Amino acid sequence: MSRIRVMDELLANKIAAGEVVEKCASVVKELVENSIDANASEIKVDLIEAGTKEIKVTDNGIGMDHDDAILAFQRHATSKIRNEDDLFHIETLGFRGEALASIASVSNITLKTCSNEVGTTVNISGGKITSVEASDSRTGTVISVRDLFYNTPARLKHLKSLYTELANITDYINKLALSRPDIRFVLTNNKNIILNTDGSNNLLKTIKDIYGVGVAKKMLNVSAENRDYVINGYISLPEVHKSNRNAMVTLVNGRIVRNIDINRVINDSYHSYKPDNRYPVVVLNIEVDPTLVDVNIHPTKMDIKFSKMDELCDLITNMIKDKISGRNLIPKVSSVDREQVPLNREQVSLDLNRDVLFESKSDSPEWLEDEPMVVNSFFVNEEEVYDASSDFVKEPLPELYPVGLVHGTYIICQNELGMYLIDEHAAKERINYESFLEKMGNPTHDVISLLFPITIELSNNDYIILRENFDILRENNVDIEEFGINSVIIKAHPSWIPRGYEEEILRRMIEAVINKQKEFSIKKFNEATATMMSCKMAIKANTNITIKEMESLISDLRKCKNPYNCPHGRPTIVFYSTYELEKLFKRSGF
Ligand code: ZN
Ligand code: ZN
Repeated sequence: MSRIRVMDELLANKIAAGEVVEKCASVVKELVENSIDANASEIKVDLIEAGTKEIKVTDNGIGMDHDDAILAFQRHATSKIRNEDDLFHIETLGFRGEALASIASVSNITLKTCSNEVGTTVNISGGKITSVEASDSRTGTVISVRDLFYNTPARLKHLKSLYTELANITDYINKLALSRPDIRFVLTNNKNIILNTDGSNNLLKTIKDIYGVGVAKKMLNVSAENRDYVINGYISLPEVHKSNRNAMVTLVNGRIVRNIDINRVINDSYHSYKPDNRYPVVVLNIEVDPTLVDVNIHPTKMDIKFSKMDELCDLITNMIKDKISGRNLIPKVSSVDREQVPLNREQVSLDLNRDVLFESKSDSPEWLEDEPMVVNSFFVNEEEVYDASSDFVKEPLPELYPVGLVHGTYIICQNELGMYLIDEHAAKERINYESFLEKMGNPTHDVISLLFPITIELSNNDYIILRENFDILRENNVDIEEFGINSVIIKAHPSWIPRGYEEEILRRMIEAVINKQKEFSIKKFNEATATMMSCKMAIKANTNITIKEMESLISDLRKCKNPYNCPHGRPTIVFYSTYELEKLFKRSGF
């Protein structure tokens, strides 16, 4: 019996417009989703020239019978959507009946598939079936899409560089592998292995396969739930961060989704533990009743909106903050080369030989000799230089004994575990920052009256805006009044403003009120001001400090809630274990 039905026209039209095939990644996406829908537990994607020459997807799914194999290339043929309701629940992965037909119209395709004892091979060229043959095959499907856009040169030109195409495909398969650790994914380009997961349904293992051992060892298991949401997954230690958001993966009921707000909430939860413009490695699966989400389906992406968004944000924030606070977060410096993304060719080739499914021409000797393509830059950042420490002990900064200062910048300390370097400026920043935030966060409504009131002159339009918003400043203990043409006078200010910085901070506050007006948030202003002030006051401090002063600095740092990072998220302290030092100097046993 045929499993594929032809989708009705109306439903097809309801699907968000926008052409399906725009790049190699969208072809890969369509083919791989078909494999998943066919219940495959192993999916192999082989690319030639980043997919521009060939995209071959091999799976061990249930395959198709003769009729389905032919029907598969008809417009609006799909086995995935049966009625309109399906579209409003994220119950099915793929949904576009047109995709295969669209792909077929701009390429040469060979489909080899089998659902029982007799297989079928269909050849299609430019959308027309050129041959249908019976063939023996094992259960599953092999579909090969060659010469994409060969008959539409204009679109061919639209393809980005091979590097970009490959990066897009890799990013997609990575995310898919993270969403389905129970499926084995193999991705190759020009016979070089880019990704090889084992399908053992162990998410951490999949994270290792994608980001490397070094990152996987620094992942923390997290979970949280409230009445509407259940969250599970992994977050990286703050010291692991990347230059873009590619490694922030959010799944909803197991499906990869995009939600800018969720990414922002995750990133904010790490605030001051890492630089704000660097992004953590995160894989979170959010389980939720499908009726609580609004999904905007588009052929190339899935946007999602949550009802009860505030509750979800709080849940995520508290989960991450609870996990990272109170942990020993001192980065351990290691002389060992960074762990590479696993590209163990020997291992992989053995696996492939053992696995009859993935029999391919690639067992010809020359592919073993190929150098693996350098793909690390896609997902591993050069800055991850720290060694893994999997024993996360909840302890504050240990006792440290200062012994000297290097370049007026780094305090050398020691204890029985090894040597520590403290960035004096960063440490002072942290201490100042927390003390400011503390003062600002507990407003006493104490004001200081200025002996010499400050007058500030503004441009006429700024003045007009500010005058309308005097109450915001007054609520925050700034005694402000009009003072002649386009000028204001301030006679008193909140007591937390340190002496010598009154005018500067008040000017910044006025600027912020003018820019933000009713959106002005004293919390955000305080945060930014505390960061700025902590830096300024740290620079002012004397750098040639005595051992006594170092001791008091360390003791102040130990009292901080987060002694490990300056307010900008850079480390304040790094650690060289005695073992590491002995290794560096090739002492016994190395
Ligand atoms: Zn600074
Ligand atoms: Zn800093």
